[in-house]
Amino acid sequence: MTIRAISSDTLLTLLEMAKSQHPLEFVALLEADNGVLSGINLLPGTRLDERSASLLTDMIPLGMSFSGSAHSHPNGVIAPSDADIGFFPRFGSCHLIIGYPYGPDDWRAFSRDGSQRNLGVI
Ligand SMILES: [Zn+2]
Repeated sequence: MTIRAISSDTLLTLLEMAKSQHPLEFVALLEADNGVLSGINLLPGTRLDERSASLLTDMIPLGMSFSGSAHSHPNGVIAPSDADIGFFPRFGSCHLIIGYPYGPDDWRAFSRDGSQRNLGVI
């Protein structure tokens, strides 16, 4: 399924979660309905380095699939790291990175290969 947008409620919730976790990173997996990202699955206590990416994989029940992910960069750099690019393909096709200070425009969406992509907010 092609992801074309994120619901504004979901985006606001993700921004709030990123803010409340600061200065720690947070990571969530996203589900979509009709091509719109609209469900958040939180995996508390996980961090998105190489080790936790595999931990994250282990924590997901078999048969569950996700449309994308969202995580924060407390350093404010809104670009995927090498670890992110290794992580993205396993969890769907649309990946949000939210950067400090987590304002309404402090996020970008990326494809599974780490290239920036457009994502509507509805
Ligand atoms: Zn990252």
